[in-house]
Amino acid sequence: MSGLVSRRTFLGHCHRAAALAALIPSSLLYGQEPANGFSWKAGIARSVITPEKAVWLAGYGSKRSPEGKLHDLWMKALALEDTAGQRAVLITSDFQGVPRSMSDLVFAEAEKRFGLKRDQILFTFSHNHCGPRLGDDLIDYYPVEADQEELVRQYTARMVTETVDLIGRALAALAPARLQQGSGKATFAVNRRNNREADIPQLLADGAALKGPVDHTVPVLTVTRPDGTLAAILFGYACHPTTLSFLQWCGDYPGFAQLELEQNHPGATAMFVNTCGGDQNPLPRRTVALCEKYGHQLAVGVEEALKQPLTPIASTLRTAFEIVDLPYLMVVSRDELTAYRQDRNAIRARWAERLLKKLDAGDTFEAAYPYPVHAWQLGGEMLVIAQGAETVVDYALRFKQKYGPGTWVMGYTDDMISYIPSRRVWDEGGYEGGSNLFEYGRPALRWAGDIEERIAATVEKLVAQVRAKQ
Ligand SMILES: [Zn+2]
Repeated sequence: MSGLVSRRTFLGHCHRAAALAALIPSSLLYGQEPANGFSWKAGIARSVITPEKAVWLAGYGSKRSPEGKLHDLWMKALALEDTAGQRAVLITSDFQGVPRSMSDLVFAEAEKRFGLKRDQILFTFSHNHCGPRLGDDLIDYYPVEADQEELVRQYTARMVTETVDLIGRALAALAPARLQQGSGKATFAVNRRNNREADIPQLLADGAALKGPVDHTVPVLTVTRPDGTLAAILFGYACHPTTLSFLQWCGDYPGFAQLELEQNHPGATAMFVNTCGGDQNPLPRRTVALCEKYGHQLAVGVEEALKQPLTPIASTLRTAFEIVDLPYLMVVSRDELTAYRQDRNAIRARWAERLLKKLDAGDTFEAAYPYPVHAWQLGGEMLVIAQGAETVVDYALRFKQKYGPGTWVMGYTDDMISYIPSRRVWDEGGYEGGSNLFEYGRPALRWAGDIEERIAATVEKLVAQVRAKQ
C-alpha cells in the first residue's frame, strides 16, 4: 500500500467527513456527550446450545450422528442503545444454517415481547459444519428418518425459545459502555473456486501466490465498561467453518478463536460473524490441529487490532431493513422433477420427490425468493451491511470499496437460503454460481443473472436511509 494519498482521495475523505459530521447530533459535537465517552448502553447475554439429544450434525449432505463434543456450541447476543434510546440486537451463533421458518418465529416473538422491529435484529450464524441441523434448512440434504425429523423439530423449537430469551437477557443487561473499532488480518482463507484443494499444501510450501479474490480483513468491535473492563469483542472473517468434517460438536475455527479470546480477556464475551465467506475455505483442512491453528491465527488477528489505537464510535444508531425479491432463472417444471426422481444424486432425487408431492397437493412454486438485507449505521464511523445466505466474497469487496472505511459486510444473516453468487461467479458457473439450488430445496436450479445488481440497489437505498440527515 502506498503512503501517498491522491488529491481526489483526500477531497473524497474531506467530503465524507463533512457528510458524516452532518449526521452526528450537535449535542455530541459540542461537548454534551458524557465526558467519559461511555455514552452507549450495551448488554451481553450468552447461551450454550449444544444439543443434548442425537440431532445430526449439519452440512456435507449425509447422515452424521454426533459422537460427543470437543467444546460447547454457543449463541450470544449484543444489545445496543444509543443516547436517543434507539435499540438494536446482534445475535451470533455456532449454527450451520438458520432457516427462515425458524428466524421468522424469533422475529415475531421479539416484536411482541420487546417491541423490536425486524430492522433492529440481526440473527447471524457462523455456518459451522460441526453444528446441529435446524428446521427445514437443507431439507433434502439428509436421508429422511422419522425419529431424526422429530429430534430436529424439538431442538429447533427449543432454540426459538432460547433465542428470544437470549434477546431479552441482553436487553435487560443494558448498561453504560464505550464502543470502538479497528481491524486486523488473518490469511488462512483460500478462494476455493480458483485453487484446487489438493494443490494447496505444495503451493504454500513453494510460497506461490494463490488465485482468486479473498478478504483477509478481521474487523473488530470492542465494548468497554466505565471501569475499563472489556465486556465484548465482536470480530468477523470471510471463510467457511469447514475445517472439520468429523462427528463431534465444536465451533470449528471460529469456536477456537472465541475460546482463545475469552481466555486472553477474562470476563469478555467473544462473538464471531462470518463476513462474506461463501466461496472461501480454510485450506488445507480436516484435522483438529489445523482447526486450532486457524482459530489461533484469527485470535492473533483480533489481538493485533486491539494493540492499535481503536476508533471510538459516537452514540447514534440508525437501522434499516428490506426484503428484496431475488428471481430464479426458471422455476422447475413437473416434467423435469419427474425425470429427476430417478436421479443418481440422492439429494436431487429427494428434492424432486418432495416437490412433486407439493405439486400434487395443489401448491405452486414462487418465481422469486424474499431476500433479507439490513443496514446499521453506528455513529459516523461504522456501517454494518448484513445480508441473508451464503454471499461470495465479491459482495464484501464491492460494498467496502463503495461505502468506505468502517464498513462491515456480513453474510449468513437471518436465513440460510443458498449460495448468493456475484455476477462474476454467476457467469463463471460452478458450485456457487451454477445449477445447484436444488441442494437447498429451492424450486429452481439457478438464480437469475441480475441478483447482484438487485441486492446492490437495495443496499444503496438502505445505506442512504441510515446515513440521511434526520
Ligand atoms: Zn456453505
